[in-house]
Amino acid sequence: MSVALNLDHAANAGRTAAPARRSLVGLGRPELRHALMGIGLDEREAKMRSSQLWNWMYVNGVTDFERMTNIQKGFRQTLADKFLLDRPEIVTEQVSIDGTRKWLFRFRDPQNPNLPPVEVETVYIPEEDRGTLCVSSQVGCTLTCSFCHTGTQKLVRNLSAGEILGQILMARERLGDFPGGRRPDDGGLVPAPRGSGGSEGDSRAITNVVMMGMGEPLYNYDNVKQALLIASDEAGISLSKRRITLSTSGVVPQIEPTGREIGVMLAISLHAVRDDLRDMLVPINKKWPLKDLIQACRDYPGLSNARRITFEYVMLKDINDSDADARELVRLLAGIPAKINLIPFNPWPGTNYDCSSSARIERFADIVNNAGYASPVRTPRGRDIFAACGQLKSETERLKKVDREALSGA
Ligand code: SAH
Ligand code: SF4
Repeated sequence: MSVALNLDHAANAGRTAAPARRSLVGLGRPELRHALMGIGLDEREAKMRSSQLWNWMYVNGVTDFERMTNIQKGFRQTLADKFLLDRPEIVTEQVSIDGTRKWLFRFRDPQNPNLPPVEVETVYIPEEDRGTLCVSSQVGCTLTCSFCHTGTQKLVRNLSAGEILGQILMARERLGDFPGGRRPDDGGLVPAPRGSGGSEGDSRAITNVVMMGMGEPLYNYDNVKQALLIASDEAGISLSKRRITLSTSGVVPQIEPTGREIGVMLAISLHAVRDDLRDMLVPINKKWPLKDLIQACRDYPGLSNARRITFEYVMLKDINDSDADARELVRLLAGIPAKINLIPFNPWPGTNYDCSSSARIERFADIVNNAGYASPVRTPRGRDIFAACGQLKSETERLKKVDREALSGA
């Protein structure tokens, strides 16, 4: 059972009416200051105003300059004339029988309002002690992992830092995570009831973020980096970097910078322990084979027993699920502080794969556990609304170059 809501928010109305205004969401602090200096503020005032805006945007979740009560009315109007604090539109919001929630978000390109909007999916997975938001980095994916639904959608474009953050901001708003917000009461779960007192920070609906939605985050490195640095900024959304995990299919040259420059937890979509099989399942392996990938993991900055790498391993019946595979997996990861996450394959229309049986998954997990690794089996969540790992996809299609140019007036 699932409930689909078609939301026609008043807040979403009229978004297209102001093409010339620049969005401030997703700008780093220096760029925000620069944008304010661009409308005539001197350096000192730009610095002060940008701290105020940062707080309104990321701590209070405000989207309307009118609500910024510590800024004079006249200047609030100037800001509103020049800038936007936009969020994605919610096209649909679905709640799974298990409480998982999935949104289809729509983004318009403020620089190119004539281009058709793009859509991505974002998923919220509540558990007893945590709430995880699964965020998308691209519309579609350039890679074609053979067991992944997203991989059947060609890359349309990268999401901007503002669009990546926009998913977090909109989800926080819907889940009542901003001050004065209200938890939804439509059957979707949130981990802890929100205290009526002032201790909001302790009972957030979103405690963790995983870059495990649509797309390969390390093929959109700069924007993902910017969004995650803003999400973890202590004067803003303030998510701990230990509670942010970036998953990659294995873009080896970007792994070291991820640790050094972003400093979040790393997950690797491993899925096979031999190059011939991984070439088939995760084709990026032909470019960066297992040897290079494993070396990059060993060298991951900040790696320790307290900060382990998660290795994701999808359980595909008769493909990668034998006892020999499990033993080879243990050998391959020897010496790396690691967690192994076994993911039952989630089916999608048109796939040729099947999920391994529960008995097979248990046996595989036993071998891995006996070698001393924690190897939780990821319980599939939200399968009824197609929100589980690897099931995300949107209808957005890549435009032909000539159509793009005609629409954007280029
Ligand atoms: N592109 C990145 C981020 C996506 S994370 C990456 O590949 O790492 C999504 C995780 O779900 C990845 O580990 C992916 O390999 C896995 N996955 C993809 N399709 C799946 C499916 N049908 N069933 C279970 N897991 C799947
Ligand atoms: Fe892209 Fe990740 Fe899916 Fe592979 S598993 S096609 S990299 S989204």
